[in-house]
Amino acid sequence: MNVKKNTVLIIEDEPPLRKLLTIVLESRGYKVVDSDNGREGLRLAASVKPDLIIVDLGLPDMDGKDIIQKIREWSQTPIIVCSVRSDDDEVITAFDLGANDYVTKPFNPDILLARAGACLRKAVTQEAGEPELTNGNVRIDLVRHEVFVNNVKTTFTPKEYELLRYFMVNRGKMLMHKQILKDVWGPAHAEDMQYLRVYVSQIREKIELPGVEHCCVIVTEPGIGYRLEHAPAASATGAASGVAAVA
Ligand code: CA
Repeated sequence: MNVKKNTVLIIEDEPPLRKLLTIVLESRGYKVVDSDNGREGLRLAASVKPDLIIVDLGLPDMDGKDIIQKIREWSQTPIIVCSVRSDDDEVITAFDLGANDYVTKPFNPDILLARAGACLRKAVTQEAGEPELTNGNVRIDLVRHEVFVNNVKTTFTPKEYELLRYFMVNRGKMLMHKQILKDVWGPAHAEDMQYLRVYVSQIREKIELPGVEHCCVIVTEPGIGYRLEHAPAASATGAASGVAAVA
């Protein structure tokens, strides 16, 4: 499958628990990245940019609360604390620092999965204001990471999906090359203009269909950047419209 999976970062020093969490999350289609210490966990949070972070409080090199604090300096990625500590002070402090949820060990894996799903849905809704983004003939289901062009589900690679989502969230806005590269590929790639050219042309091939009404169009502003033009919603006559456009 080429569909982008939600990535979960687990920061937990007990190997059996890390393994259990990994198995449970992978069985539900999540991609898992893990670390047994805080320092590496923070590094992974920045490089992998997970969709969700599960953090233990008692770690060998630092307190999980410090991890929450550090991550919140630059990211709103949902964080679930998973700890044996159950006293009110610890829980309240974790929430004050920016944790989204708190699960006490030992825990029921199904409960943790439900909380993880709820955190992810909420994060998606907050970012976009809604679980779907629509512009003209293109619709993105942000929860399932699926793209529909003329109501037909269309395969996008994970990076194409990320870039298209970025354009859709910022539709109508002029986006500078460097800004797009920084936001979608990361600060180290701000100069990698060829990435952007290649991916924009791949996305155009998938969304800019000749002869289609209200087609999504990515406009090139030479030397500056790109802009996804606002397009009115395509007629909502159901799944057949994509076929009709071709005939
Ligand atoms: Ca621990």
